[in-house]
Amino acid sequence: MKINTSLAQMPAGYLFAEIAKRVKEFSAANPDANILRLGIGDVTRPLAPAVVQAFSDAALEMGTAAGFKGYGPDFGYDFLIDAIIAGDYTARGVEIGKDEVFISDGAKSDVGNLQELFAADAKIAVTDPVYPVYVDSNAMAGRLGQHVDGKWSNLCYLPCNAENGFVPPLPEEKVDVIYLCYPNNPTGTVLTKAQLKKFVDWALENEALIVYDAAYKAFITEDDVPRSIYEIEGAKKCAMECCSFSKTAGFTGTRCAYTVVPKELVFDGVSLNKMWGRRQATKFNGVSYPVQKAAAAVYTEAGQQQIMESISYYLENARIIREGLQKAGIQVFGGVNAPYIWMKTPNNMKSWDFFDLLLKKAHVVGTPGEGFGPSGEGYFRLTAFNTKENTIAAVERILSVL
Ligand code: PLP
Repeated sequence: MKINTSLAQMPAGYLFAEIAKRVKEFSAANPDANILRLGIGDVTRPLAPAVVQAFSDAALEMGTAAGFKGYGPDFGYDFLIDAIIAGDYTARGVEIGKDEVFISDGAKSDVGNLQELFAADAKIAVTDPVYPVYVDSNAMAGRLGQHVDGKWSNLCYLPCNAENGFVPPLPEEKVDVIYLCYPNNPTGTVLTKAQLKKFVDWALENEALIVYDAAYKAFITEDDVPRSIYEIEGAKKCAMECCSFSKTAGFTGTRCAYTVVPKELVFDGVSLNKMWGRRQATKFNGVSYPVQKAAAAVYTEAGQQQIMESISYYLENARIIREGLQKAGIQVFGGVNAPYIWMKTPNNMKSWDFFDLLLKKAHVVGTPGEGFGPSGEGYFRLTAFNTKENTIAAVERILSVL
């Protein structure tokens, strides 16, 4: 059997494993230390009552002869697709067709799988730092060349840093695909409509595809920040959009997401909508009926109000971190339209050295920026997913160390 050498040679996914190892060693040596975790990338608040009600009603329905359901429609039930279109698109003046929405079990699966649409030698661009799935899924497919000194030889990096205000530069070479994630993980920063339009225009001119990951769109608070790339003229001809109920409605353990593939998306005379449908129908058998019912409940009046309470809770934590650090003169980014705060390490400390300092002196855990890509060096990510009490305590401890 000839193995996939690109997959076999992947560098170890060491970031969170290395963090866990260092925390474990520190805890073993300091059993009384009360460690506060601001590295959590997972939601912590329970599902909304309206969601739980719909979830359990649908599960009970499955136990009746009249309500039992086997395999569902390949691309999702109409009741969920209709709710998504009405709640996330029509309400914002964007027209999306029913057959352009594909329900899935996660944005991670979708952003990982959709590289199957690209040629084996398609050239990929990512912002740097970046959510690692875009890079790793393409590396596994053999598109990125060699991994040398923390960089892939055949990947186009678009560096985002304090100097460019975390607005990525346009690619300076011909690329086939650009991955954009806004609001951004890990930096928590956003693009305005005008800034995003430059990417849409570039993609149209260069016949490139944009993969737009909007997993954090529910956290947007500012008016000029697009919730969907389709708010930008021309985007339906050049962009796919991946969305998720994970961070919007606490579905990280429940699993439901969707990807929009407009019919106008045609490359080499072939419809990506058709290709994605063919791919999904072959390799994916859908999301369970109770989970889709639970996701549809997010769009009810009660559901909307309840999920926004949790989002406001996280955003308040983000404000506490952001303003607390700012008062101490630290350069911070994000945290206004996202649950992530991206801080510059003091005195240009290496991000892993700063990790060790915070762990040992403040008993606070965050995530070293370097783990998200070369341009993350010198930065550090804090998240808003802990409790308010722990967030306040963690910020006080960080400030006392600094
Ligand atoms: N996209 C981004 C940018 C994320 O940060 C995450 C999760 O952290 C995901 C996608 C994964 O979403 P899901 O839980 O729907 O797989």
